[in-house]
Amino acid sequence: MRNIACPVCHKIFEVKSEYCPHCNSKILKKVQGVAKVQKKRAVAGWLAILVGSVGMHKFYLGYNKQGIVMLIISFICAVFASTLYAEIIFCIVALIGILEGVTYLRKTDKEFNRIYIRNQQYWF
Ligand SMILES: [Zn+2]
Repeated sequence: MRNIACPVCHKIFEVKSEYCPHCNSKILKKVQGVAKVQKKRAVAGWLAILVGSVGMHKFYLGYNKQGIVMLIISFICAVFASTLYAEIIFCIVALIGILEGVTYLRKTDKEFNRIYIRNQQYWF
């Protein structure tokens, strides 16, 4: 359980039911929405850092085209793994994933929701 601020009376309380214990406002929907964004941001961030080079965080956020682009680049690099260029390009793609992951994790839930869920910003 987490403490949240009631969106109506702004008092802090522990989430136990769908009603605020101070003003009795129904808050469940809003709380669930916040928890969802919080989870999405954390999962997308860690996917980007750990397996970002194959675009997993893009697929997770529903950016399928961008995910496929990263996946194809990584696949081509894997095919030509013995060449220096392929290794450099793979490192760049992996770095993009890590940078995006760090960017996601450093945003607030509110910013993340606005930039990546509502406005669908595909890169960084
Ligand atoms: Zn309240």
